[in-house]
Amino acid sequence: MKWFGSSGVRGVSFEDFSIELSMRIGYATGSRYRDIVIGRDGRITGQIFLSAISSAIMSMGANACDVGILPTPSLAYATRDRDCGVMITASHNPPEYNGVKLWNPDGSSFDTRQMEDIESLMMSEHELADWSSVGSLKTDSNAIHDHSEGILARVGESKIKVVVDCANGPASLITPYVLENMGCRVTTLNAQIDGSFPGRPAEPAEENLSALRNAVLHAHADLGIAHDGDADRMVAIDDKGRYAGGDVLLKVFAKQVGAKSIVAPIDATMVLEDWFSDRLYRTRVGDAFVSEKVKERNADFGGEPSGTWIFPEMSLCPDGIFAAAKLVEICAKKRLSELVDSVPSLPMIKETISFKSSIRDEIISNLNEKIASVESTEVDRTDGYRLRFEDGWALIRLSGTEPKIRIAVEARTMQRAKEIMERMMKVARSCLK
Ligand code: MG
Repeated sequence: MKWFGSSGVRGVSFEDFSIELSMRIGYATGSRYRDIVIGRDGRITGQIFLSAISSAIMSMGANACDVGILPTPSLAYATRDRDCGVMITASHNPPEYNGVKLWNPDGSSFDTRQMEDIESLMMSEHELADWSSVGSLKTDSNAIHDHSEGILARVGESKIKVVVDCANGPASLITPYVLENMGCRVTTLNAQIDGSFPGRPAEPAEENLSALRNAVLHAHADLGIAHDGDADRMVAIDDKGRYAGGDVLLKVFAKQVGAKSIVAPIDATMVLEDWFSDRLYRTRVGDAFVSEKVKERNADFGGEPSGTWIFPEMSLCPDGIFAAAKLVEICAKKRLSELVDSVPSLPMIKETISFKSSIRDEIISNLNEKIASVESTEVDRTDGYRLRFEDGWALIRLSGTEPKIRIAVEARTMQRAKEIMERMMKVARSCLK
């Protein structure tokens, strides 16, 4: 595809992601769908793109409904009574970025076939509607309220003390209120919407959450919650101030939500295989693939180590706010530190090797040949090469966005993990020659 990646269209505002490009998205969606809901995260260029896309939608004779600034999962939830949802966001990217992600009424993001359809419409010439039959633009300020009510109807009471870091994004408008309504005592950090992200970078990586960690420890809070720029993601800090990232929370959720079948990408821990065996469905790396598989397999829960959580009882959209509410509910019964300590943790090592993008094709064909020389019990080609060994696994794949080889290894002991990694690094390096 020319413009769409696995997370929709994304780029630097007015450069790769231009007003013209956004209008093409508007013409394309407006020619395919009649009733479109549109919203945006807190980015500085958001209103400009929202105006451009809405204008294009209306000029195709379709109706748009502007639900204002809100998290991506709230927009996806608002799509349930419409034909299509348009979210203007660049998720956790730096402030100069913006983009668009498209949504279905069931909360799933557009799949490959739908994105290809929109792309081909973006390249076509469109005849605008007659002046007397253009569409309308309504505004609706209830989307966040409706999403909150939907969440509160599905979770119980919790009276714990929580600190929420909203990343200066639209989570500020919903997560603290949802948790308060559940009975929590809530303190907030970075809860003013500001598209320049003055508080911290929008990605909830461990190195960006020292303020949250300090706040949890100083307030003697039970839990810290951190979102990304559009709140489809959520990670936590436990009551001991330790980072509980996506890989840790994946195990906690898998154990605690009572799921009988789950979906996780192939780079997630093999502890899940120990627990779920053939009720675990693996996918390519990327939350859209997890969501697709949850739908296809009718699974109870899907999660990704990046911090995206899909609870199909709520929506097929990764929902950081619902996940925060679920975690708060779980932590009312047991401290997060105890839950984290009770799940097995196997050594996992990750490495990346950069290469010149011009030799990408050569690396792909070399990899195919070199991997065959490694003795393993099984090779899974879901995404790159996942080699299974008696006591561990290795994943070697090319990044979809950068010229990098990514390697992940997990084993029962650290010594074994290092041995496997050494072997895989040799394979990867030999492909560069
Ligand atoms: Mg996001």
